[in-house]
Amino acid sequence: MSRIHHHPEDDTIAGYAAGALPAALALVVGCHLQFCEHCRQRVAQAEATGGGLLSNVAPRPMGASRREAMLAALDDAPVVSAAVAASANRTQAASGDIPSLLRPLVSVDNFSDLPWKTIVPGMRHLPLDCGEGTLRLLNIGAGMKMPVHTHRGNELTLVLQGGYSDELGQFNAGDFADLDGSVEHQPVADSDRNCICLGGLDDKLQFRGWVAKFMQPFVGL
Ligand SMILES: [Zn+2]
Repeated sequence: MSRIHHHPEDDTIAGYAAGALPAALALVVGCHLQFCEHCRQRVAQAEATGGGLLSNVAPRPMGASRREAMLAALDDAPVVSAAVAASANRTQAASGDIPSLLRPLVSVDNFSDLPWKTIVPGMRHLPLDCGEGTLRLLNIGAGMKMPVHTHRGNELTLVLQGGYSDELGQFNAGDFADLDGSVEHQPVADSDRNCICLGGLDDKLQFRGWVAKFMQPFVGL
């Protein structure tokens, strides 16, 4: 795996640290943290500085029990040095392991064993039920070119396997796309293997964003 070049924005980190993100978004950030020592430090710093960073973050309190469960899952994640984390990430990318934070939501250990649902030829997805917001895995065929699309606020994407490139650069496993509506892009999956991503959306956006955006040119949504 290459080094991580793309990270969550400051307000996303602050919202996560405050427990203000709905579960779907918090899980995408949490999985990135399992890859990224740099962002684990950013979260710790945001927690230390508290509410001063939150003036621009809309309050979306997460249920106390869900937050506790999520924090417990994060606590269970091994805290390793950056070097060890990089090594572990290579192993994960090679074996197609599912991040441990997602294990409670799926019943298998490997991406290849998931019950993927075909959207269009070359593109499959798997909705995950996390209770708050829309969370799904997306599996994009090697070399596939996505339709040009934009994003509408609060859409987070984490690459878990393979990679893609777009107007913003190259995204490999561990890289995080924190996009808003100002970005119009056309991701192209790397040609050597399928690209598997985790995407989180706010509830109110679920019919507008993400897969719907990708499907629109094909099915006329
Ligand atoms: Zn990061």
